[in-house]
Amino acid sequence: MAADPWKTCVYVLSICCCVWGLVSPSSDGNDATNFLIGTGIGDITGPAAEVNMMGYANPSQTSNGIHLRQYSRAFVFADSGNKTRTVFVSTDSCMVSEDVKLEVVKRLRSEYGSLYTERNLCISGIHTHSGPAGFHQYLLFEITSLGFVNQSFVALVDGIVDSIRMAHSTVRPGNIFINSGELLNSNINRSPAAYANNPEAERKRYKYNVDKNMTVLKMLDAEGKDIGMISWFAVHCTSMNNTNGLISGDNKGYASQLAEEIMNNGAQPGKGAFVAAFAQSNEGDVSPNTKGPHCIDSGLPCDILTSTCHGKNELCVAAGPGRDMFESTKIIGENQYNKAMELYHAATIRLSGPVDFRHTYVDMTDVDVAVNGTTVKTCKPAMGYSFAAGTTDGPGMFDFKQGSTSSNPFWNLIRDFIKTPTPDQVSCHAPKPILLDTGEISWPYPWQPAIVDVQILRLGQLAIIAVPAEFSTMSGRRTRDAVAATLVSGGFPQDTVPIIAGLSNTYADYVATFEEYQVQRYEGASTTYGPHTLQAYIQTLVGLAQDMTKGTPSPPGSDPPNLLDRQLSFLPPVIFDAAPAGKTYGDVVVDVQQEYKQNSTVTVSFISGDPRNALKRDETFLTVERQRSATEWDVIFTDSSRHTRFYWHHTNYILGESEAEVTWNIPASQEPGTYRIKHFGDHKNILGAITAFSGTSSSFQVKAISK
Ligand code: ZN
Repeated sequence: MAADPWKTCVYVLSICCCVWGLVSPSSDGNDATNFLIGTGIGDITGPAAEVNMMGYANPSQTSNGIHLRQYSRAFVFADSGNKTRTVFVSTDSCMVSEDVKLEVVKRLRSEYGSLYTERNLCISGIHTHSGPAGFHQYLLFEITSLGFVNQSFVALVDGIVDSIRMAHSTVRPGNIFINSGELLNSNINRSPAAYANNPEAERKRYKYNVDKNMTVLKMLDAEGKDIGMISWFAVHCTSMNNTNGLISGDNKGYASQLAEEIMNNGAQPGKGAFVAAFAQSNEGDVSPNTKGPHCIDSGLPCDILTSTCHGKNELCVAAGPGRDMFESTKIIGENQYNKAMELYHAATIRLSGPVDFRHTYVDMTDVDVAVNGTTVKTCKPAMGYSFAAGTTDGPGMFDFKQGSTSSNPFWNLIRDFIKTPTPDQVSCHAPKPILLDTGEISWPYPWQPAIVDVQILRLGQLAIIAVPAEFSTMSGRRTRDAVAATLVSGGFPQDTVPIIAGLSNTYADYVATFEEYQVQRYEGASTTYGPHTLQAYIQTLVGLAQDMTKGTPSPPGSDPPNLLDRQLSFLPPVIFDAAPAGKTYGDVVVDVQQEYKQNSTVTVSFISGDPRNALKRDETFLTVERQRSATEWDVIFTDSSRHTRFYWHHTNYILGESEAEVTWNIPASQEPGTYRIKHFGDHKNILGAITAFSGTSSSFQVKAISK
């Protein structure tokens, strides 16, 4: 593409000056570029030790190291005249929470005035179940993390703000292309019995019981240089299971690392200019464990309605396609990466038209929903029995089963100890048997949100439908159809593409269709606001879509509460670290061998300190280094690389002694040479002073695999 001297000048000005007012490309209708685009990435990795992982709600699943670092990926979009601006952020976190979004907006306001607000900013989580918990403000989501964990919250907020700051500073004229295609062998429905309860005529419209479609945005600057991509594909980030303690972006984080590595010519993770988000969509009932659920004792299929084996819920677990969770993460990650790059390189349809947004805060506990000519109501939040059963991606405990539409006197007794649901609440949620009456408890603060964000971002013929929950496959389809029909009938182009951006802005659990809700699988039991939850969301989104077509503002709604200063924290802090007698921090405990072949694994361990002493955002707990000269070593890999793993554990909890283990899976293509591994940590003394240390393995040879 020929460079336009004026645009080049504008580009240079925008980069050098970061002065937004100077960027005003001509809008004579012959622009070579349709948008202004900025891309950015920030490290959101929280405490890599002793903090419960968000997602499986398994109290024994706590962080103990790093597989992949977590990142926030931000994209600033404006029309070429810079009249309207939106920001889409995809975070390698399980989801975000209202307190996170409010804090991010507060920080952006102090830096950029009214440029970025809760209205035009969308933050969407990829739903990894391998990231530290404790960043929520509602109690239900912080029970297993022993309350609020400030380090998790701060890392998430800081990294998101970093990514938006970088995206802001790189805004330049550019174009966005869209493409979509089918990706097979990468997702299955984990509640097929609920899906099958949807009307037959509706099911017949679709070939699969999950969405196989991937949509990709390709972003180029005015010179045709690749600057970023977003892909949306509906699949849970539960390839890593509930035994994993390593922080990881799971299959989507893995895919991002592959795409960014190739597009940034091998730059370290998180350090390149090209940003590739693998964002989440309507994955509510969608599992990446493509071998499906089996009984772990007999290998036989589980009962399809209840997902149990001889009545036991915890024996029914889904896995695959790999031999273990690391290989499954790799396969599902590579599948998404390969399809996304194929779609990226083949994308020719250019987005054109306005940039726009609509956002409202809706009180989901109090929506009048029109259904078949009558008006019904949503309910205050409550979770059903099957919520406690968990899913086949991560079963729950005790004797809970999915598909429960009746209750049990023993659990009701325990439930009533917390809160007996009112008769109105019971009938509102029927046929869901209420286990946790979260909406009628406000002690010590609310357990689940009442007010949530609902939002649509427009980029030309693309409508990003940002929902604060995990929509099931059919819920997503109905929502997309309703929003697209409203937009098109209001004058939007016939080829308008609706996308569900799941887990956006705050978190309000799941959304099953009315029919799926009747079956009360996990997703139905976790449909927070009762059987008409989906319809309430659709109605609200259709209202926003109508406002967008008419060019009228949407009702702002009531602000959600900010509960940050009421948070309770029970996670014990790091008291102190200690090195065993005769040893010091960084000492090698078990050293490397002298020589390794490509495609084998190096392991080394060190005397260490608690990783919570310093999170090392934008830094690393380890390096793999290659010798360049007698005194010079090049860093080849960090703790974020998929080829390395950082493990940490206490060797004596009472004495505060701990060790770190680093493993490096040497790639088959690794250049032969002399290498070493370093560990970086921090230790805390009894007075609370924190001191950095490092340790270095002996050097070792990597040899080619002999042919
Ligand atoms: Zn989920």
